Amino acid sequence: QAKARGRNGYSFYAPSMTGEGVERLRLETFLRRSIEKDEVFLNYQPQVEIDTGRLVGVEALVRWNHPELGPVPPVRFIPLAEDTGFINQLGKWVLFEACRQMVRWQADGLYVPKIAVNLSAKQFERGSIVNMVSAILRETGLEPQRLQLEVTESVIMNTGDALVFINDLHSIGVGLAIDDFGTGYSSLAYLKQLPVQTLKIDRSFIKDISTDPNDEAIAIAIIQLGKSMNLSVIAEGVETEEQAAFLLRHGCYLAQGYYYSRPVLSGDLLTRWRPKP
Ligand code: C2E
Ligand code: MG
Ligand code: MG
Ligand code: MG
Repeated sequence: QAKARGRNGYSFYAPSMTGEGVERLRLETFLRRSIEKDEVFLNYQPQVEIDTGRLVGVEALVRWNHPELGPVPPVRFIPLAEDTGFINQLGKWVLFEACRQMVRWQADGLYVPKIAVNLSAKQFERGSIVNMVSAILRETGLEPQRLQLEVTESVIMNTGDALVFINDLHSIGVGLAIDDFGTGYSSLAYLKQLPVQTLKIDRSFIKDISTDPNDEAIAIAIIQLGKSMNLSVIAEGVETEEQAAFLLRHGCYLAQGYYYSRPVLSGDLLTRWRPKP
């Protein structure tokens, strides 16, 4: 349509071509090529048992470092990847890389019990996610029990066949965690039907846990809920010893956050956590 208006029409008539629109389009174009250009990689953030400091798992977090733009944070490119459908390619790449890394660490002398990988809603819309996951597990040789998929409440509530997909994933042996728990809307009745193993308390509740009575109450309620539903509960965004102590006192035994470690490269995880001979 813009073309029909003549050579210069485009810049006049396309209302989305504001500075922001142009920027977005540029980002989108770059993002589409990021995998083939080797610009994406994973960081891994330790999940630990609070009272022993033992490593119980890691969460895989995708990173994108563009030669011109520099590092682009996930909050900027994940939504874009979701809108454009690129998330399917990216999600598959992340999952494969994460599973392969688990096997590599083991070969290198570090046994990481479990890896958590984030899934977007869009990945559930696309045919069978179950086939993709089982193919990757087969190809990498990772035991299904050592993979935990993280979805948010909104993914569960807004995905038509979420229950079907999630049951299928459960049937092949992979675990499921509900990410950012407490920030979305999920019916507890619905939650009860799901083969979920883990609730992750959102870091917004952890931040002021020992000073804000509301956050304190919410965190305690989630811990209790997990307990009564026989789920394991992990707190995200733990940054201080005080927060960790609070959690432990209230029966939350697992944590992830800067207090223990920032997300790191696979080699750094090895350096810090591999048992010394
Ligand atoms: P998330 O899954 O809730 O991941 C936790 C985020 O909290 C990560 O941000 C992590 O770096 C950050 N974090 C961890 N500990 C602390 C702490 O102590 N303090 C603070 N302030 N932050 C902490 P990141 O890596 O920027 O990722 C943001 C979000 O992007 C993730 O939130 C997740 O929703 C999404 N994401 C990341 N990787 C992937 C992926 O491979 N696939 C999909 N679909 N989403 C991803
Ligand atoms: Mg997560
Ligand atoms: Mg989270
Ligand atoms: Mg969060």
